[in-house]
Amino acid sequence: MPECIFCKIINKEIPAEIIYEDEQVMAFKDVNPVAPVHILLIPKKHIATLFDLTTEDSDVIGQLVLTAKKLAVKLGLEEKGFRLVANCKEDGGQTVFHIHFHLVGERFFAWPPG
Ligand code: 5GP
Ligand code: ZN
Repeated sequence: MPECIFCKIINKEIPAEIIYEDEQVMAFKDVNPVAPVHILLIPKKHIATLFDLTTEDSDVIGQLVLTAKKLAVKLGLEEKGFRLVANCKEDGGQTVFHIHFHLVGERFFAWPPG
């Protein structure tokens, strides 16, 4: 998906503050953070929304969540915790159509969302 902004970050066509990268996943800082820690975790495979996931993607989804946990530990979030969010389509507030988890922390998030 050459027009996808996250695919461009994966291909290093546009810069990002990359925190972690392996064969399957990448994590980088959100350009417009809503918390002191705001990292986006994405699969290197282009998948537009959570509705486009298939059972073939179960491994990469597991890797994304495990990477989020490892980064949260590394960033010292173990004591107070963090939030891991995936927005899906219009009602979920998705604006970039390449699936991603937001790892946000170092501030309190209320529940339910407003
Ligand atoms: P969504 O609204 O789809 O859940 O989240 C998309 C996120 O991507 C937003 O938090 C937005 O700030 C972030 N974002 C959009 N474009 C870029 C970009 O070019 N670089 C980075 N690092 N983050 C981006
Ligand atoms: Zn993409």
